[in-house]
Amino acid sequence: MIFALIGNQNSGKTTLFNQLTGSNQHVGNFPGLTVEKKEGTIRKNKDAHIVDLPGIYSLSAYTSEEMLTRDFLINEKPDAIINIVDATNIERNLYLSLQLMELNIPMVIALNMMDSVSSNESYIDITKLEQLLGIPVLPISASKNQGIDYLIQKAVETARDNVRPKKLDFCEGYVHRAIHSVAHLIEDHACALNIPNRFAATRLVEGDSHMEVSLKLSDNEKEILNHIVTEMEDELATDREAAIADMRYDFIEKICKKTVFKNKENKEHLRSIKIDSILTHKYLAIPIFLLIMSVIFMLSFGVIGSALSKLLNISISKITIITDSALTDIGLSPAIHSLIIDGIFAGVGSILGFLPLIVCIFFFLSLLEDSGYMVRVAFVMDNLLRKIGLSGRSFVPMLIGFGCSVPAILSSRTILGDRDRKMTIMLTPFMSCSAKLPIYGVFTAAFFAYNQAVVMISLYIIGMIIAVLSGLILKKTLFKGDSVPFIMELPSYRLPSIRSILMHVWDRAKDFISRAFTVIFIASLIIWYLQSFDFRFNMTSDSSQSILAHIGSAIAPIFSPLGFGNWQSSTALITGLSTKEAVISTFGVLLGGNMSLSDLFTPLSAFAFLCFTLLYMPCVASLAAMKREMGMKYALASITYQTAVAWLVAFFVYNIGRLIIGG
Ligand code: GDP
Ligand code: MG
Repeated sequence: MIFALIGNQNSGKTTLFNQLTGSNQHVGNFPGLTVEKKEGTIRKNKDAHIVDLPGIYSLSAYTSEEMLTRDFLINEKPDAIINIVDATNIERNLYLSLQLMELNIPMVIALNMMDSVSSNESYIDITKLEQLLGIPVLPISASKNQGIDYLIQKAVETARDNVRPKKLDFCEGYVHRAIHSVAHLIEDHACALNIPNRFAATRLVEGDSHMEVSLKLSDNEKEILNHIVTEMEDELATDREAAIADMRYDFIEKICKKTVFKNKENKEHLRSIKIDSILTHKYLAIPIFLLIMSVIFMLSFGVIGSALSKLLNISISKITIITDSALTDIGLSPAIHSLIIDGIFAGVGSILGFLPLIVCIFFFLSLLEDSGYMVRVAFVMDNLLRKIGLSGRSFVPMLIGFGCSVPAILSSRTILGDRDRKMTIMLTPFMSCSAKLPIYGVFTAAFFAYNQAVVMISLYIIGMIIAVLSGLILKKTLFKGDSVPFIMELPSYRLPSIRSILMHVWDRAKDFISRAFTVIFIASLIIWYLQSFDFRFNMTSDSSQSILAHIGSAIAPIFSPLGFGNWQSSTALITGLSTKEAVISTFGVLLGGNMSLSDLFTPLSAFAFLCFTLLYMPCVASLAAMKREMGMKYALASITYQTAVAWLVAFFVYNIGRLIIGG
C-alpha cells in the first residue's frame, strides 16, 4: 500500500512522516524545507509505504513542487492520500484539500496541531466536518504523537476498502454549469488517459494549458471550452481563475462557519505579533539580525566552539604522539609509519578538531530556524534582495548555503521562475559554507590570534558583499528584469523542539565526520604519496623534490600576484576542490613538523589566501548539484565567474594592502 502525504508548507508533514516511519528528516519552522519526495515504511504496518511530498498550496502547476506532486498523484496512483491540514489555519489549508478530493483518490484528512487548537480554547466539530467534506477527518498532534495510531488505522481502512471521497461537487451557479459542461465535453479524453475527469474539467475552466495539451483536445473542443469559459466569465464578471478560487473559498467559508469555533484571542498569534513588533520593526529588524548573528559567531568562534576545539585538538595530538611511539616500538617500516602519521593522522586529524565549532554554529542556527525567526528575516530581506533582482525567497537557499552549498542549491527549487532560480544558484556559493571554517580557523589562529572572530566575520561579510555586487551585475546583464513577487506565510513563533534541533545538528556533524573519513582520508593519502615520492618513485626526504612540488610549482605563478605563489598553496587549493576542508588537511600533510604556515604566508597574503578560498569555485559536489539544476553551460559559466572574482578580490586585497602597509 502506498500513501501520499500531502499538505501545505509548514503544516507538520515532515513531523508526521518522522513519527510514522521513525526516520529523522529535517523539521523546521520554515516553509519550503522538503524539496524532494521522501519515502518510508510505516513502523507499525510494514506493508504500508508513505511518500512525503513537498509542501504546496494548490495543484495548479506553477512551481516545480506542484508539478512533482501532481504528476505523482496522477501517474503513480497512490492507494490513498493523507492530507495533512494545519488546524490553526484551516481555511487556507482546506483549499488544497478540495483540489485533492477532485482527484477522486481515497483520502483522509489528518487535522494536525490540535494541541495548539485546544490550548487556545478553540474548538473544531470534527464529526460535522467529516460529514460536510465527505471524507474521514482525524484530529492529531504530530509533534506530541497524539492520534497517530488511529490515523494509520483509518488510512489503511480507507485505502483497503477503496473509499473514495463522497463529494466532488463544491460549486454552485455559473461555475457549476461551466465545470459540468466541460466535464461532459472531455470525459472520453480524460477517461482514455486515466486522468480524473472532475479534476481535469476544473483545471481547464481555471485555464491550465498543461492540461489542455495532455488531454489532446481537438480544435473544435478547444473552441467549445473557450465559449463555455467566456460565458461564465461574462456572467460572473470575473476572470476564470478568480471564479474558481471564489467558488472554493465560498465553500470553505460555509463549512468553517458551521464547524470551527475560534477563540478570538489566539495566544500564539498574539505573542507572535508582540515579538514581531520588535524583531521585524521597520528600522530595527536588520540591525537586530546582524546583532544576533554576531553574537552567534562570537559565541561559536570565540568562546564555546573554540574552547571545545582546542580540547579536541589537544586530545588528537596526544593520540598521535602515542600512536607514533607505538609504531616506532613495533618497528614498522618507515614508509608505512610515515603514511599513518604524516598522511592520515596529519590530514584527518587537522579537520576533526573543528567538529565542535560546526556543532556549535548549527545548534544556534537551527534554534533560530525552528523558532520561526529565520522566515521573518527572509521577509525583511525581501526589499534588499529585490534591489539585486532577487526576492525574499532566495534567502532560504542562501541561508542554507552557510551550511553547505549542495542542499542550498537543491532548495532553490522552491523558487518561482527560472530566472530567479538560476541567479540564486549562481550566488549561493558566495555564502561561506561550513567546510571553509577549518581553513579560517587554522589561518586566523596562525596570523590573527588576537582578532580571530573579527577576521572570520569579515570573511562572511565579504562573501555577502560579493554576492550583492554579482547580483547587481547579473541583473544588468544576463538576467534582466524583475523578480517574481514573494508571498509566503509567516508561521507563529514556536518553542523549538530539542529533538529536531539535535537531529539537525547531528545531520551536519555526521556529514562532517563522514567527509573526514572518506574524501579527506583519501585526499590525505594521495597528497602524502605525491609529496613523499619523486618522479622516479623513490621516497624523498626533501619534499621540494617531490612530484607534488613539481605540479604545484607549475601552477603557482598564477597565484604569485596574490601573494601566495608557493607550490604548497597551489596544491592545497586544488585538493580543496574535492571538499574545502581538504585545503587544511593538505597543509597538515605538507607542512609536517619543521615548517609552519608563517614560512609560506605573511598576515596580508594569508588574508588574501582566505579571500580566495572563500570565493573560488565550489567543491565538486556543489558543481554536480549546479549542473543538475541548471545544466552544464550555466554551471561552467558560474564556476568560471566565481574563480575569476576570487582572483580579482585576492589581487586587490593583497596589492592594496601592500600599498597601505608599504610592504
Ligand atoms: P512541513 O513543512 O509540513 O514538513 O512541516 P514540519 O514538519 O517541518 O513542521 C513545521 C513546524 O510545525 C515545526 O516547527 C514543528 O515543530 C511544528 N509542528 C508540527 N506538528 C505539530 C503539532 O502537532 N503541534 C504543534 N504545536 N506544532 C507542530
Ligand atoms: Mg517538510
